[in-house]
Amino acid sequence: MKASMRSLMICICIVLHVVSPCHAKDGAVEARNGMVVCVSPAAADVGVAILKKGGTAVDATVAVALAMAVTYPPAGNIGGGGFMLVYLGGNEKPIVFEYRETAPKAVNRESFVNEKSPHTHKAVGVPGTVRGMELAHKKFGKLPWKDVVMPAVKLAEEGFPLTDSMARSLNGMLKATKENAEFQRCFGKADGSPWKVGDILVQKDLGKTLRAIAVEGPNAFYTGLLAELLEKEMKTGGGFITKDDLAGYKANERVPIHGSYRGHDVYGASPPSSGGTCLVQMLNIMENFDVKKHERYSPETIHLMAEASRRAFCDRARWLGDPDFTKIPDHLATKEYAKKLAQGIDLKHATKSESLADDIPLGKDGDSTTHFSIIDSKGMAVSNTYTLENSYGSRVVVKGAGYLLNNEMFDFNWKPGVTTRTGGIGTKPNEIAPGKRMLSSQSPTIIAKDGKPLLITGSPGSRTIINTVFGIVVSVVDYGMDVQSAVDAPRMHHQWFPDEIRFEGVKEYPDLVKKLKEMGHKVEYSKQGDGHSIWIDPKTGTYRGAADKRIDGKAAGY
Ligand code: GLU
Repeated sequence: MKASMRSLMICICIVLHVVSPCHAKDGAVEARNGMVVCVSPAAADVGVAILKKGGTAVDATVAVALAMAVTYPPAGNIGGGGFMLVYLGGNEKPIVFEYRETAPKAVNRESFVNEKSPHTHKAVGVPGTVRGMELAHKKFGKLPWKDVVMPAVKLAEEGFPLTDSMARSLNGMLKATKENAEFQRCFGKADGSPWKVGDILVQKDLGKTLRAIAVEGPNAFYTGLLAELLEKEMKTGGGFITKDDLAGYKANERVPIHGSYRGHDVYGASPPSSGGTCLVQMLNIMENFDVKKHERYSPETIHLMAEASRRAFCDRARWLGDPDFTKIPDHLATKEYAKKLAQGIDLKHATKSESLADDIPLGKDGDSTTHFSIIDSKGMAVSNTYTLENSYGSRVVVKGAGYLLNNEMFDFNWKPGVTTRTGGIGTKPNEIAPGKRMLSSQSPTIIAKDGKPLLITGSPGSRTIINTVFGIVVSVVDYGMDVQSAVDAPRMHHQWFPDEIRFEGVKEYPDLVKKLKEMGHKVEYSKQGDGHSIWIDPKTGTYRGAADKRIDGKAAGY
């Protein structure tokens, strides 16, 4: 290359570095002014466009959440619910916008004892997403509501190109729902052939629904024509939800769980999610040990993490549920309690899960969510996890409205009294009651240092969510791993019952697995989570977005 050409290239690179995102050495995307990281590339672009227009991180969150209701139907939704954690930094109080689904009025604690399929109208909880977005937008939005909803309308009406993983996911679900005419009509390809990468998915009915929400506001969903359509769908399919349930739905502002970990602040989702409480309890237990003495994937560290999880998950079953219905003790996330639990850990041998719960009788036995992280130019950070419960939820599409409904009722302890060694939980705090919110594991999390956000993270994956977040936090805080490596690193999970460690890295770490087995752990392979995260460099303020490529994903910044 000629010298003049080389200088020109260098100049272009410098300019690009200043005004646009670039890839850091570790594969994360770097940007200075705003960052959106989520599973859907099209939705990530929507979020960045909103930030560029001067929208806040909450404006971008609403836009991304509604866009993903179009571009990521396995979990993006308006027919489900979730948790949004907002951190403003300095002395401002962080807030959780909780928009978890509720049990319809017509159910009781026994309503699901004999239910066999999670894919029915009965399984649907009263959706919370639209009210949740409205509540957060009223408090922290700057752009008009319509402006943040319209990008989703456009994606639905004009269509968007399917990624390879989205095409494969739809093809799989279309095969599994042959009898479901509305699903086939809304998500099938016109000529009946399988979807391919780059095909355009248009969703006309969903476009109309979102347009009504954009123009008339959220009431269109809860009290307007859309409420009529949902009630009609429920009546046709034998579900429980009525217009009255919808009209009565409220999202809540809640105080986040706040803990600390080795000099960092930890903020997480409060009940009705178990995420924040369990995560802080697990980190508090870890603080009693000098984990850095051992490598990240040493038997010592993985053993400790498993033992901390085992204890937190046992307490989850024992105590946690909707705080408006059940009294949750104050000690769970305290340092003193964690110290007591830590003293019970044998450093060389696995504890038997059964030994932790004499008070919970054990009987015989007879996912999908998505997380995204956003930060704006002023440092407002949002960690949002929302869900339909299973992939594509109940698989019920509201006729004429084009959106999928959740099957969140199965997050309740639907078999009262039946707690099993395979993971069924039947304890009282999370039994079904009309109007009650089912216990969640969603764990939108923000780690802060000196009043500034350092890490925004979270994941899907049912109960494994908590351990995915736990692993990322330990990797970043204890081991100083860069955010992309922390997201990519193998994950482990222990949830009390089944009494086993699930581990992504069984092939890469055969000696570790051998050692864990010698300590008395059962170890199984399992793929886990989808933790789209952002790390904020405390020295330079640069944002580093790490998309998790286990499914799909994009970090988009500017
Ligand atoms: N519904 C689950 C919860 O709220 C999440 C489901 C999943 O991520 O697979 O805990």
